[in-house]
Amino acid sequence: MRIVVLTGAGISAESGVPTFRDAGGLWEGHRVDDVATPEGFERDPDLVQRFYDARRHAAAAALPNPAHEALARLEQRLGDELLLVTQNVDDLHERAGSTRVVHMHGELAAALCASCGARSAVPADLAEWPPCPVCGERMLRPDVVWFGEMPYELDRIEAALAACELFVAIGTSGAVYPAAGFVWTATEHGARTLELNLETSEVSSLFDEVRLGAASVVVSAWVDEMLAATA
Ligand code: NAD
Repeated sequence: MRIVVLTGAGISAESGVPTFRDAGGLWEGHRVDDVATPEGFERDPDLVQRFYDARRHAAAAALPNPAHEALARLEQRLGDELLLVTQNVDDLHERAGSTRVVHMHGELAAALCASCGARSAVPADLAEWPPCPVCGERMLRPDVVWFGEMPYELDRIEAALAACELFVAIGTSGAVYPAAGFVWTATEHGARTLELNLETSEVSSLFDEVRLGAASVVVSAWVDEMLAATA
């Protein structure tokens, strides 16, 4: 069965990585406009570099939880019938064992050179303005997709949504587009849709089925069901 799974910050919450909106619309005490837009970066680049350096260190200290691990087990069973699309910039899916992961909003572990456009592994804390490993200019920024920027691999994601039989959204508030619209695309092409979330989201009414609860519980239970059904 072809499945597309979309994950959001909620799947990493039980690993101790705070979500985006849970604390009154602030991300780790910062306004989203200040740390997640190109304009915020222009206004105060050092603050933004320090912010993502801190997020990267915190994510590195976190461990995958049973929800990440369950999705890795599902990939082992389904192989390329499963596409895991994440809005998360941490690498907890990979560290749990998933290999087919699309980071549509980029990755904390990567840097993007504003001079030559190369994407590379972060060579050192970006607040130190290390040189780009490709062109040598000191113009690296986090390779994270900010509001107003184009997410990565949308064509591949849209094609997978059009071809899937099941679309599952996990731990995402349904407030950030285009990801929040994936349920529409999947539905239009005839897929069944399932939402797994702690509480209802802004798009819950669009799903065929909604299961509420902590990701470590509901994702593990859903994966166990899928593994039993495809045994
Ligand atoms: P969000 O913060 O807007 O929403 C989080 C969702 O997770 C909510 O629906 C909430 O009910 C749910 N949730 C909270 N705890 C949960 C749990 N234990 N189990 C299941 N669900 C739980 O997140 P979003 O929709 O992913 O959008 C936020 C944006 O911020 C993304 O673009 C992402 O790149 C970025 N972000 C990423 C991380 C990360 O990489 N871990 C963390 C914070 C923000």
